[in-house]
Amino acid sequence: MARIKYSVPIVEMQGDEMTRILWDWIKEILLEPYVELNCEFYDLGLPERDKTDDEITERAADAIKKYGVGVKCATITPNAQRVEEYGLKKMWLSPNGTIRARLDGTVFREPVLCESVRSYIPTWTKPIVIARHAYGDVYRNTEIAVEGEAEAVLEVKYKNGKTVRNKIADFSGGGVAQGIHNTDASIENFARSCFTYALDLKRDLWFATKDTISKTYDRRFKEIFEKVFGEYREKFEAANIKYEYSLIDDSVARIIRSNGGMIWALKNYDGDVMSDMVATAFGSLAMMTSVLVSPLGAYEYEAAHGTVTRHYYRYRDGEATSTNPVATIFAWTGALRKRGEKDGVQALCDFASKLEKAVLSAINCGFITGDLKALYAGKNAPTVLDSRAFLKKIKEFI
Ligand code: NAP
Ligand code: MG
Repeated sequence: MARIKYSVPIVEMQGDEMTRILWDWIKEILLEPYVELNCEFYDLGLPERDKTDDEITERAADAIKKYGVGVKCATITPNAQRVEEYGLKKMWLSPNGTIRARLDGTVFREPVLCESVRSYIPTWTKPIVIARHAYGDVYRNTEIAVEGEAEAVLEVKYKNGKTVRNKIADFSGGGVAQGIHNTDASIENFARSCFTYALDLKRDLWFATKDTISKTYDRRFKEIFEKVFGEYREKFEAANIKYEYSLIDDSVARIIRSNGGMIWALKNYDGDVMSDMVATAFGSLAMMTSVLVSPLGAYEYEAAHGTVTRHYYRYRDGEATSTNPVATIFAWTGALRKRGEKDGVQALCDFASKLEKAVLSAINCGFITGDLKALYAGKNAPTVLDSRAFLKKIKEFI
């Protein structure tokens, strides 16, 4: 069979530890036999980041901007222990943070649903995609512990000399005060990424805040979404999808009762909390994918989990581990499909769907990795395979 070809490169970012091993096996067993991969390669493994003073991460981010599609392996975010383990020059920043900042994008997390893997919420038969605004609010706050009788004020000083002061509270004893902010530009970019991605997936977009209580701050989010939606309204109608705004508490209640299938856009804190709830409810972390969408339409796909360090140390000691490669495979299929869509290479889109189906069929027939055992609800007793055997089994289903 002739391998599928395409002409614009995909930005390939290799990573660390167990996922670095899985990465090469996925390419060898499931991709290269079918697709003539055309990738611009960046090694974001920690040794190379250290060697290049992390310049490689910045170059990778610029390449994603240039070519519009990237796929990234999980990478180590160094801490003090890693600095010692790898003898690093410095505690480099999180590559995901660097790439996100350079693309000014929004991260969408989506679970891979599989008939035979149980969700804790039985009504959720379709995936729920969470979009978390990744700037500001309580994550860029300033806080003061109040020690006694005091007046706390919020003050904005304009460059032209004008000043606006609002009283926060009069303290008669100890307490706490906090200042938070956001910017119109960041909220607008968030909104644009959400509307773009909803059109892409042809799914309804839900957005929720607490604007009844926060009449200026949260209301600004609501208004900006409404304004930006003006640019997308006709496209939404043509795609037969809806944009809906609601109050956060109403939204949470309706999500639980829903069948899923929507993109749920949330402010920074709500997204942080709700994404953990949704991910857990759908089962294994190893079945969660993530895509960074820039407001200008560049896409970076990856697995939501880390480098699976504990498995890697066992692998290094010669043990065959049963690490789940599903989210990493779906990162590749996401990137291949997007490349196919952008460049009109239908064969690439078809192959991505075929590979995804093969993964789900293998699992539904009872071939799984160890993490899925406790969640397995298929008809047959499952067979737990090591990662390489699992990948080869998937190949039989292509
Ligand atoms: P992790 O790599 O996600 O692993 C945590 C645990 O979850 C694993 O020990 C394993 O549990 C289970 N798990 C995760 N993915 C799995 C998979 N594919 N198959 C089977 N089990 C899986 O998180 P971590 O241990 O906190 O972080 C390890 C490194 O990854 C850190 O250096 C961190 O900086 C980095 N990280 C990177 C990213 C990213 O690049 N996007 C995200 C998160 C973390 P058991 O050991 O119980 O089997
Ligand atoms: Mg969280």
